[in-house]
Amino acid sequence: MSDILQFGPVTVYLGAKSGKYPDGNQVIVDGPDARVAFDTPLVANRIGAGFDDVDLVILGHAHEDHMAGLHRVPRARVQAHAADLAAVQSWEGLKAHYGYPEAVMPAMREMIARDFFYHPRPDATGYRDGEVWELGGGVRIRARHLPGHTRGHCALVVESEGLAFIGDIDLTGFGPYYGDATSSLAAFRQSLAEVAELDARAWITSHHRGVITDRRQFLADLERFAAKMDERGEKLLAYLREGPHTLAELVRRRLLYPPGFSLPYVEAAEENSIRMHIEELLAQGAVTQHGTAYALA
Ligand SMILES: [Zn+2]
Repeated sequence: MSDILQFGPVTVYLGAKSGKYPDGNQVIVDGPDARVAFDTPLVANRIGAGFDDVDLVILGHAHEDHMAGLHRVPRARVQAHAADLAAVQSWEGLKAHYGYPEAVMPAMREMIARDFFYHPRPDATGYRDGEVWELGGGVRIRARHLPGHTRGHCALVVESEGLAFIGDIDLTGFGPYYGDATSSLAAFRQSLAEVAELDARAWITSHHRGVITDRRQFLADLERFAAKMDERGEKLLAYLREGPHTLAELVRRRLLYPPGFSLPYVEAAEENSIRMHIEELLAQGAVTQHGTAYALA
């Protein structure tokens, strides 16, 4: 069994390697009136009744690695932010959410079925920013919309415990991921500013970092995580310093992943991310466009 941390009514089941992708960290909140799961990462499949008996799953956002336990809880209600809801309800919705080329979708579907027990929930319903769930006994959860990773990405704050589940604002060394169709670099920047203001004493990330209980540590980690975005902008400028590049050429050189690293979505995620950085650099006047090529201004 995985490592388990307890904070009052909140139980955190750490996934393999503290929830490093493809696993994640499972949060369960137990109130007198309901038991609630935040997301359902792979580790959900190794918990047993503590997970399988949940009444409600609140998804902080829609991605394959956060939906990997949905197949175990067909009777639980499932909710996601309205902007991510379609991606939970059907494969068509998830395809549009990823936004990868049609050619890679069969491999993507095969991967998420095989590795993540993919199980859409057409009956899932939507919630909005500020939504509150009362679990009885004063145990209260509030959603805080922090988009960028996906359009509907939210933190789920157990206000009664001062505990914030911040999902894929995961503070890992990889840095922020904004490679999908509904991702946004600009929204992610804004959300990183806002997540620092959450009223919390402990922060639970979905991946790798587990639980952080020291505010100074959290803020230092957040700063390092946010700095990855500027480092990526600098990396693109360094490529362009060598000479003009088209978008396809920049994708071949890689911004996020090491050259040669291959998963079905890698090229599309690189292209989406690079395009957003180029747009930002164009707006800042650091880069100019000549036909299909980009160059230093
Ligand atoms: Zn995600």
